Order: sequence, then C-alpha cells, then structure tokens
Amino acid sequence: MDNRSVKTTCPYCGVGCGVVATTTAEGHVTITGDSEHPANFGRLCSKGAALAETLSLDGRLLQPQVNGKKSDWDSALDAVARGFKKVIDQHGPDAVAFYVSGQLLTEDYYVANKLMKGFIGSANIDTNSRLCMSSAVAAYKRALGTDTMPCSYDDLDRAKLIVITGSNVAWCHPVIYQRIVRVKANNPDLRVVVIDPRKTASCDIADLHLPLKPGSDAVLFNGLLNYLAEVEEGDEEFISRATEGADETLAEAKRTAPSIDSVAEQCQLDSDVLEQFYKLYARTERVITLFSQGINQSTSGTDKANAIINCHLYSGRIGRRGMGPFSITGQPNAMGGREVGGMATQLAAHMALENSEHRALVQQFWGAPVIADKQGLQAVELFRAIERGAIKAVWIMATNPVVSMPDADRVKRALQGCELVVISDVVEQGDSVDLAHIKLPAQAWGERSGTVTNSERRISRQRPFLSPPAGAKPDWWIVDQVARRLYPQSWSGYTAPHEIFTEHAQLTGHKNSGSRALDISGLIGQYGMGAEQYEQLRPIQWPVTAQNSHGTRRMFGDGRFFTQSGRAKLIPITPRAPDIKDDASYPFILNSGRVRDQWHTMTRSGKSVRLSSHSAEPYVDIHPDDAQSHGLQTGMLVSLKSPEGGVVVRAKISEAQRPGTLFVPMHWNDQFASNGRINRTIAARCDPLSGQPEFKQSGVNIGPFKAEWYGILLSRRQLQKQLKQGLSSYWSRSRGAGLWRYQLAGDSAVESWSLSARALLCADEDDVGWIEYFDQATKQYRAARMVDGKLESCLYIGPDQHLPEYEWLESLFAKEALNSEERIALLSGKPAVPVEDIGPVICACHGVGRKQIRDLIEKGQVTTVEEIGEALKAGTNCASCVPELRALLRS
Ligand code: SF4
Repeated sequence: MDNRSVKTTCPYCGVGCGVVATTTAEGHVTITGDSEHPANFGRLCSKGAALAETLSLDGRLLQPQVNGKKSDWDSALDAVARGFKKVIDQHGPDAVAFYVSGQLLTEDYYVANKLMKGFIGSANIDTNSRLCMSSAVAAYKRALGTDTMPCSYDDLDRAKLIVITGSNVAWCHPVIYQRIVRVKANNPDLRVVVIDPRKTASCDIADLHLPLKPGSDAVLFNGLLNYLAEVEEGDEEFISRATEGADETLAEAKRTAPSIDSVAEQCQLDSDVLEQFYKLYARTERVITLFSQGINQSTSGTDKANAIINCHLYSGRIGRRGMGPFSITGQPNAMGGREVGGMATQLAAHMALENSEHRALVQQFWGAPVIADKQGLQAVELFRAIERGAIKAVWIMATNPVVSMPDADRVKRALQGCELVVISDVVEQGDSVDLAHIKLPAQAWGERSGTVTNSERRISRQRPFLSPPAGAKPDWWIVDQVARRLYPQSWSGYTAPHEIFTEHAQLTGHKNSGSRALDISGLIGQYGMGAEQYEQLRPIQWPVTAQNSHGTRRMFGDGRFFTQSGRAKLIPITPRAPDIKDDASYPFILNSGRVRDQWHTMTRSGKSVRLSSHSAEPYVDIHPDDAQSHGLQTGMLVSLKSPEGGVVVRAKISEAQRPGTLFVPMHWNDQFASNGRINRTIAARCDPLSGQPEFKQSGVNIGPFKAEWYGILLSRRQLQKQLKQGLSSYWSRSRGAGLWRYQLAGDSAVESWSLSARALLCADEDDVGWIEYFDQATKQYRAARMVDGKLESCLYIGPDQHLPEYEWLESLFAKEALNSEERIALLSGKPAVPVEDIGPVICACHGVGRKQIRDLIEKGQVTTVEEIGEALKAGTNCASCVPELRALLRS
C-alpha cells in the first residue's frame, strides 16, 4: 500500500496553517506544511512541525464515565440529558450553561449554539475565546458595525509599515512573523515598529521598539490620532464620505494626549522615539497595525482596540491593499465560533440577540420551539453564577477553565460545588476534567472532521487521517445525541458534518441581501453541500456569495460599513489606567502569556519531547535590578503571590523586562507542576464592554522560595501521583525521550531519604535492582532503580542546585543494560567519560542547545544566523528560533 496524504489544518494558533499528514503503510505519520495553503505556503512553526509527536493515545479518555465509573455511550448520554432536563424543568433554562472553546470545529460550535439558544432557550453559552479576542470583537462592532476583520495576510506583503502592538508575534503567531521577516528581507523600505512593555523576540526585526508603560496603549494611539490631525494627515475625503464621530473623537484625543511630550510622559517613553513612530505612521500610507492579547486582555481592551481603529479610519487606511487594523486571533477556531454565534453576546451567523427581527429569522430558520431573547452570562460571570448556585448544570467542551480562567482556584471551587458538571474532552485526567460528574470522550485532531476559520477570515477543512479510537466521538455528534434526547419532537438531528456546514452556510445567506458581512451561502449552491463537495472544500475567505464565489480578500474597499448609517464610527476614547489595587504589598505588575513551544494547557504540546526542551519548567522573567533587590538569581525558585493565590516558578533574569514588571507563562497546570498554574494569582477583572478579563496586569509580590533541598528525578513512569502525596513541596515535569524528567525541591528536611526514595520510585512494586548512596556530611543522596538490568528511574538530591546534567542521565536510559562502570558513575553523579552538556534547547527542530551555539560564537566560528545554520542546522527548519539565535549573536 502506498503512503496516504491528507490535507488538513494545524490545531494550534489562529494563523491557521495548512498541513499535510502522510501516513505510511506501517501507520507512521509525518507532518509537513501544505505548500498550497495560502496561510502558510508550506511553512510551519516549531509547534506545527512537531505535531506528529503528539498523536499517541497516551492519556486519552476512551470511554464515557459517569460518577467515576466507566459507562457506555447510551447510558452516559441519557445521564446528561436527564440531568439537564431536571434542572431546566425545576429552575428554568438559565440554570444551565455550556462553556465551549475555540478548539471546537465550526460544526461542533454550531450545534451547541443552536441547542442552547433555540431549544433550551437560554444564551448561557460562552467560550474560552472570551478570554482572548472578545475586546477585538466589541471594537470592530462599535467601529465597523460588524465583527469583520478587514485585511488579509496578503496585505502584510504589501505594507510599508507594520506596527505590532500587544503581540509577541514571533512566538505566538510564528508563521505570520516569518512572513514579515521575509517581506522585510526583500523590501528594505518596509519598517516594523513593535510597541510592547517587554523587549520580546518580535523586536528582532523592529526598526523601533516602544517599551511603553503597561496599560498606556490608548494614550499612545490617542496621541497618534492627535498628531495625524496636527500634521494634516487625516483623509478628509474618506472622513466626510465614510465615517462619523471624527470631531468628538479628535477632541477627546486632544484633551487626553495633547502633545508628544505629554504622551511620552504618560507612556514613560522617550519622546524622540515616540515622535519618530508618529512621523513614520503619518508619512506612510500602507500601514498595518497587528494587535492581539496585549491589547485585548485588559479592563479597557475594547477602548484600546478602538483607539487603534480610530487612527486607521481617520487616515483612511482601511479597505485598500497593505493597510488596516488587523486583530490576530489566538485559537485555531475562535473566528468560526464567532461566525456561528457561539458566545453569550451573539445570536447566530453574526445576528444580534437584541434584534427581534434577527431572533424571529433564526427561530423560524431553525424551526426552534423558543429563542433566547437576552444576552447570557459571559465567562467570568458564568462561573460566578455556578459558584452561587444560580447555574446548576454546566457542560464544558474542549477547554480547561481551572487552568485558563482568571482567579482559577475560585473557578475550581465553583465546579466542585456544582450539581452537575459534564465535560467532553480528549484527556482522561486534567485540572478541569477531574471535577466532572460525567466525562465524554471526544475525537481529537487527526480523527475529527469539520472546518475552522483563521485570523484572515479563511475557512479551511480539518480532515481526519487517523482512525478514531472506538470510544471517542465527534463533539457535534455528542451534542446532537443529547439534543435528540431532550427534544425528540422538534430536534431534527444530523448525520454528518457537511449537513451542519450546509445549514450554517444557508443561515448566513438567509434574508441577508448584503445586510450582514458574514455570508458564505455561495459555497453551497442551491441544494446544499454534499459530502464529496465538503471533502474537496478548499481554503477560502468569507464572504462567499453567488456573485462572489472566489471569496473576499479585503473588506470595506467600497467605504460602506455595517452600522445603521453605513458609515464607520470613530469612537472617542478616554484612556483608563489599569484596574490594579494600589497596594504596596503587591508592588510588581504581572503579565501572563504564551511561550514559543507550548500550547494552552499542554495537553497536546506537552507530549512532544522536542517542544518540552525549550522551556521545561514554569518560570518568571524578572529585570536584573528587581532580582538583585529581592535576592534572586537565575535558576532560583521564586514564590510569587497575589491576594488570589500564589505559584512557585524558576527565576530567569532578563533585561527584556521593564523594571517592576514580571512575565510568567500561562501553560503550566497541576498536571505538569506542583504550583505553576499562574491564573490562580490573577484577579477576575473584566472589560465592561467585552467581558474580556485582564491577564496582563495584576499586582503581585515575589520572594525566594526557601528550599531545604533540591532534586532531579528521571523515570520511565509518571510519578506525579506519588509526588502529590507530599514529599516534594515543589515539582515540575517535562517529557524526555521515553521518560519523564522531574525537578524537585522541598521546604522541610526529609528524615530518611532511603525510605522516602523507595516509596517514591518503587511505590508498591518490588525494589529489586535498587542502588543508593548517601553522604551525611554533604547531604547528597543518590538512588537508582533497575528492572531487568535496565535503568528504570534515578533520583539525585542535594542541598543546592548543583545536580547532574540531564543529557548524560538520559543517555543511560537508552541502554539495554548498565555495566558496572556505569552503575558506579550513576551513584557518583558524574559520567566516567565527559558528556557534552548542550544547555537549554534553542532549536527544537534539530535539538540544538544554547551552550553549543555560544561555544561556536565565542570561538569566532560563526557570526551570522546563516553560519549557525550551516554549522549546527539550528534555525534551518521552521525558523521559530531565529530571533533567539540573533539575540545570542548580539550578546
Ligand atoms: Fe500551527 Fe505554528 Fe501555523 Fe500557528 S503558526 S497554525 S501553531 S504551524
């Protein structure tokens, strides 16, 4: 049998790269970029390139469970329907809720939204996309009258100035970043400006970096608007023909950001650098402003996004080639969720809950018995309602709110007290799924079939290339089955995803006639889309109508907007300071976000050895001055606390941080670290317009974690269950080749290491093949367990962090049996023959470490990224590490 190749879409970020999954006759899968997909033209970042390492069934939920017992599908679905019906009958439709996810496919989202709003009759369906882009949605709707992204990736190739603000695009949307790198290499006239309190990897290509005071973005863009007016760079013709609100908006900009000096002072920027940026913007017609979570995740995120859009509207820089305000979405299908209305604030197909005509239209189209007539509860409010018992049954689909929500411990307590928690997911254990009364196994990426929409409105297929495990079902099927049980008389049901896609597409075109931007009715023709046509669906940007069957690259070129007047609205913005309590006990501003090689709560990316090597532990970036004043050094464990909770993470001293600010990754959870779930420290304060929580500015304090001992542990088996029993007050784990690596530390002395180590490594099993060493004077303890002569696990304990290198120990795990010399070396903690320590991995694709690269640089053998590539291959595959290579060269 020949190899079989399937074109599908990456399941991680909103860039939406096309991938080709090729399966050999033996079942081995390789993943490459799809050279024909317009989002990436064959390129993938480190996460996409490592997808084949994440396909195992390890840790998968493969059978429904009800109240902790394995069940069958019929019984589990009956239990869900029974539980929801009981609550709805007794307490009404608003006593139940769905909490869904930008990981769902559009078809899954559509069915869940239809069930909640058209049959249950509540709008209590919100999504984790509320946490990443709802401010952009609210801002686009205020300004443009529609949640419609104006630009295309293609515009990046044509821009003359790209402003990147509130986005470490190099790490969070790497294929977009690499595209900008290539455009800049071919077009030296292209200017790139990065506006970010941190000096991130994205600054590698910046002509200007504006390290503004956290939260002062609206002042900066109000200042830009004011400057454009002063230098007469407004597009008067466009303003008078296509906009409204310019005068009031300008007046407020002038009042709040009256001069460059005033803005520089408010934003704590150098006024010369600020002026250079303003001049550059004013004299460049083709400007794109890329923005993301740094703008959106704020108590004034909508205002910040509108401050950006105001500048584009005032200067007429929208709707034409190479320009526009460009929100890049975090998740693979946040956009698809918005399109079907899978949020508590929307109805369906970009129609409004508040609009009675829209409600009647959707109800009639669905043949629905009822229709929600008011907005439902948004994410933070939704979990608060669970906490106070107003919501008594919740169904969480494909997301992990105990990790990703702010004030995450409160969310956990709310779920612990909820009458009925149903979770459909792919993992058997997790911070949220462990709290479910009913667990429903969903199909994973590679098994499921449907569509997603990326940041540039491009709809692409996710196609299956793996046989799904027998117990796992598509999310749309699970929801459909529950709906059939709840509403047997009126729910008509589906048998395949193309039927759902057809219905969604029909609804977007239903009585539309150009009144709504979202219209994909042109994809399905008069009789709907058949299975074969759905299978062949090629990536396409909406709107797609009968008249415009090739899709739409760019919006608003005709100067017509979707507001009541047809004009775009400039919105007067009064900048607000971040909503942080003025409390000297919490003097640092905490910013949380993504790292290069992990994704969300690590359920998929945490399976990859390659991806685990870039950032193996939860950490905090801290400025050297702050580190010094708090007695911290790189590699020390740090305790970080807020009124809501605390974490323990590893210190990284970094000049990239502004003094007084900290950065901690969002990914670590209770499965990967004892105490690294950063969102437990973040207060749940939201933007009043979008409901999006603030993740970028929280007040915290820091101090050294006082450890009595440190340790490392390597084991073929996972041991966090044993570690959770209390030996180690700090642990984190990462994936090695065929094993797990653990970092340990304890804040109290251990009476007998010999007993504790056996309890940890051997559990109930026989400890044959046990060797150990203890030096009372130096407090060094070492132990190893062999099974059939093979190294099974080893543990090193010491009073400080001078512990053996992983690389050498991992090489011993690769051996069939250890000889006596190697056993002695194991106990001495040193290899008989020195093994190269490569340091933290920089290039995940080729496993190249920092020390290898530094060695060559220091010896003068390499002076450019290209030379590093020739010598070590680093940076030659996905190029995600190139900014770090450049930083090493500079340092
Ligand atoms: Fe996937 Fe990386 Fe492309 Fe994002 S940039 S879609 S993570 S390959």
